[in-house]
Amino acid sequence: MQYSLLQLLKNICIPNQCIICHTLSDDNLCDTCILKIPHKPKLWINSHITQPPLFRPTAFTEIQYPLENSHLITVLSCTLFNDPIIRKSIHYLKYKNLPQLSNPLGGLMLRAITQAIRLQSHIILCPIPLHPKRLLFRTYNQSDLLAQYIASQLRLPVYTDLERIKNTPQQMKIHDKSERIANVKEAFIAHSKPTQNDIIILIDDVTTTLSTINEAASALYKKGFRNIHAVILAH
Ligand SMILES: [Zn+2]
Repeated sequence: MQYSLLQLLKNICIPNQCIICHTLSDDNLCDTCILKIPHKPKLWINSHITQPPLFRPTAFTEIQYPLENSHLITVLSCTLFNDPIIRKSIHYLKYKNLPQLSNPLGGLMLRAITQAIRLQSHIILCPIPLHPKRLLFRTYNQSDLLAQYIASQLRLPVYTDLERIKNTPQQMKIHDKSERIANVKEAFIAHSKPTQNDIIILIDDVTTTLSTINEAASALYKKGFRNIHAVILAH
């Protein structure tokens, strides 16, 4: 009891600090450290695309291998997962109970999106959901927080009817690509259909092999979505 009271007092008396340089920062990541994160967008474009892609390359964009056997039309990644600031920020966002990190990290995604997107109407965002059991444990879904941040800035609606129905081991702990694909196979189900001409953008924090977003895109496709894209914070 005494320890809890001390912890409470500490939380009240000691303001939030940047997780990198320890200067005061409400969101736990200061502007100076955010500026050190490399602006390194990567873009995947489906090889069977028949229309102008939603995201177009900028001068900084690294074009990736064409997407094949995927319902995704374009995938935009905003920065590099091997950058130490991004790595630590994502780790703290997911596992150290610092949901406010979604504000500066969502800001990085917002910058990459606004630089690359071709303006369209009927855009909706769709966070990659956690399984309800994992959500209960973590109390929040980091992808949902990122999507909510971007949606609030761009005034876009958020699709909340994608459900994770398989409580699979975390992709980060699986190193083999085919095992990652098998791990998330049919892990999602979409419950509501698109309204006419909806463009849906999946939002997630990290991808390595695109397996999770590919599987989520398949669930949306089965429900009738045809214009499916993804934006990932880091690859
Ligand atoms: Zn800092």
